[in-house]
Amino acid sequence: MRRTPALIVGGGPAGAAAAITLARAGAPHLLIERTRETGDMLCGGFLSWRTLETLAAIGIDADDLNRQPINRIRLFAGSRHAETRLPRPARGVSRHRLDGLLLDRAAQAGAAIERGIAVRSIEATTARLNDGAEIAADALFLASGKHDVRGAARPASARGDDPAMGLRVRLPPSATLDRLVGDAIELHLFDGGYAGLDRQEDGSGNLCLAVRRSAMRAGGDPLALIRTLGETAPHLGERLVDLPDAPADAVANVPYGWRATRGEPGLFRLGDQAGVIPSLAGEGMGIALASGSDAAAAYLRGGAAAARAWQAGFARATRRPIGIAAFIWHLAERPATARWLIDAAAAFPPAVRGIARLTRLPGTGH
Ligand SMILES: Cc1cc2nc3c(=O)[nH]c(=O)nc-3n(C[C@H](O)[C@H](O)[C@H](O)COP(=O)(O)OP(=O)(O)OC[C@H]3O[C@@H](n4cnc5c(N)ncnc54)[C@H](O)[C@@H]3O)c2cc1C
Repeated sequence: MRRTPALIVGGGPAGAAAAITLARAGAPHLLIERTRETGDMLCGGFLSWRTLETLAAIGIDADDLNRQPINRIRLFAGSRHAETRLPRPARGVSRHRLDGLLLDRAAQAGAAIERGIAVRSIEATTARLNDGAEIAADALFLASGKHDVRGAARPASARGDDPAMGLRVRLPPSATLDRLVGDAIELHLFDGGYAGLDRQEDGSGNLCLAVRRSAMRAGGDPLALIRTLGETAPHLGERLVDLPDAPADAVANVPYGWRATRGEPGLFRLGDQAGVIPSLAGEGMGIALASGSDAAAAYLRGGAAAARAWQAGFARATRRPIGIAAFIWHLAERPATARWLIDAAAAFPPAVRGIARLTRLPGTGH
């Protein structure tokens, strides 16, 4: 059996941030990432101003991600719409670009990374790999994100009776997207979900939906659902003129609103394994990055024994942003309250900026 003081499972934003912190401190560790090459994970790709601050602290500049800022938020429900400025500029990025940069930074800092191998199950702080090998660790940083690992899975009850799923299609760069979306993040609300749309570093559109399973079933397959939404919602329809025929990417059973409130000895749950903020808040990656850096710093100070107290503290820190985002998500996915939300946003834009601020992790000022 192999041994390492600190084992990081997963090399997304949470795992990469933890590896960067440990590597910079010269602390021995090992990161296991199941993909051999960096793909383009399903994600809305919206990086808030707070997430950009966290990335800057890691050494990644906003301009390395996308030179074009996102300055405003636009909300739609049926024919209603509202628009206002964001509290501060954000960016849209593909996960290919972000995850690639983060793992590059980790490697430059001297992180020990093994790719193309998955952790199949976890028992306490020992991981069994898909080739049958085992790695025993003093501290295990679980950063497998959207995917649960046997033995340390988030509770099935966290998904609720009508679980949410994520869908994503990429819209090719076009003059239509430039003109209609421009420097905005758009949220198109519909019965049972929402579609977010922003432009990535190459000018393409990232159309990412969170939708209840019941609404998905009623809509047929993912692409059919998106087409139907485009036919019934005029503003969304205008933006879908170049909708490709390629199948949409999908991820099932997203436990929006769940948080790991109780710590376990030696186990640091990071990112989506620590808490899942409803994606319309656009702060999941910020929480993932902050959790990785913060948990690794706690480990450097107190070793594996710091895990329980750290987890409880992180659950307290995410309570407000996740709670408020979950409340807004429930209002947004029901047509009557969604219309009310848009009318309220149009009448009182500062409230939108206030909610945008309250759904961030507490940070430095702002
Ligand atoms: C529809 C949708 C839209 C979203 N939009 C946004 C947005 O616009 N802005 C935002 O900030 N957040 C958004 N999010 C949330 C964001 O995607 C997540 O919060 C974030 O990716 C969590 O980062 P992570 O590092 O915890 O996990 P992930 O990003 O899921 O990374 C996990 C990593 O672990 C690896 N892995 C998984 N299992 C194993 C295993 N068994 N062994 C080894 N490696 C493994 C994976 O390959 C991956 O590289 C969205 C989420 C959804 C579902």
